[in-house]
Amino acid sequence: MLESIYAVYGASGFGREVMCLAREQLLGDGGGIDQLVFVDDNPQSEFVNGHKVLTYEDFIAIEAINHYVTLAIADSSIRQKLTERILADDIKLWDIKASNVVVMDEAEIGAGAILSPFVTITSNITIGKCFQANIYSYVAHDCQIGDFVTFAPSVKCNGNIKIEDHAYIATGAIIRQGKPDKPIIIGERAIVGMGAVVTRNVPAGVTVIGNPAAPLSKENLRRK
Ligand code: UDP
Repeated sequence: MLESIYAVYGASGFGREVMCLAREQLLGDGGGIDQLVFVDDNPQSEFVNGHKVLTYEDFIAIEAINHYVTLAIADSSIRQKLTERILADDIKLWDIKASNVVVMDEAEIGAGAILSPFVTITSNITIGKCFQANIYSYVAHDCQIGDFVTFAPSVKCNGNIKIEDHAYIATGAIIRQGKPDKPIIIGERAIVGMGAVVTRNVPAGVTVIGNPAAPLSKENLRRK
């Protein structure tokens, strides 16, 4: 029986990026390439980039002492649903961290995070479960980040910012630094659009775009 088997869940675009990091990490930890597969509920082919693509059922049927999974799927609600399923099946969340990621002092990062190349997490930060920080994103000092938060590439999250569960921050967004007694708050399930410059709180569930970022409205859409 294998000691451990590892999977990247999601064999699409982001999953292929994560697989490369997962392989480097596993080989660096002394693991073997035959211990690493994709899992996908809608497999499009038998192999992707040289790795077998299994259904979830086939993956859990593999005889191994430990099963590890990293969820390489951008949709945070799907990540939550799949996390609940895998934990119920006694599968462990696998953290993926690119070799050039910088993490400074007192940064607590919850299980299942994926930190892509060139990500920086500075000091005195707490981050919840299954965080995704895509290439070149950063989180600066004294930020609090909830569960299932997603950063697309190049998100600039400055100091003293609170980001609640399931928020999605799109490529190149900049969030202005908050104050220790008055952090900038991005509410639960809020969406910050590509390149937006956030200068004030974003209420839960609201999408903001532009500079300075404002709620998405029909008028905003006409502005193009
Ligand atoms: N997927 C899955 N189970 C789910 C939802 C999605 O296996 O419950 C897979 C889906 O088949 C696809 C991948 O996850 O291969 C998600 O890819 P998508 O293109 O939606 O997003 P991205 O790669 O950008 O996160």
